[in-house]
Amino acid sequence: MARRCPECYAELPEDAVWVCPTCGYTLRTPAAAKTGIVFMVLGLVLLGAFVYGPERIGLTSGLVPTDIANLTIANFPLLVLGTFGIGAFLVAAAALKIRSEHARVSAA
Ligand SMILES: [Zn+2]
Repeated sequence: MARRCPECYAELPEDAVWVCPTCGYTLRTPAAAKTGIVFMVLGLVLLGAFVYGPERIGLTSGLVPTDIANLTIANFPLLVLGTFGIGAFLVAAAALKIRSEHARVSAA
């Protein structure tokens, strides 16, 4: 049985993985995009923790060795930026992947 596009019900060729060639509907979200969104949410959570105060989220309560706790607090802005940056990069890479298939589909 042929797969059909959930948007326009056109039959999907075997090579249509991400995008429907008839209407351009995005058939599925690449795993990279989902991972990227998770990282971006994590980045926002870390940003919230940073605004709240990294030294007040329990890092210095004894659960984490003091050295690591201090290092984390000192590098917190970097941690926030890094996490959010990885997320943004993955989402952008996934968007480019979909865009390239869009281009391939509309050129065919
Ligand atoms: Zn379609």
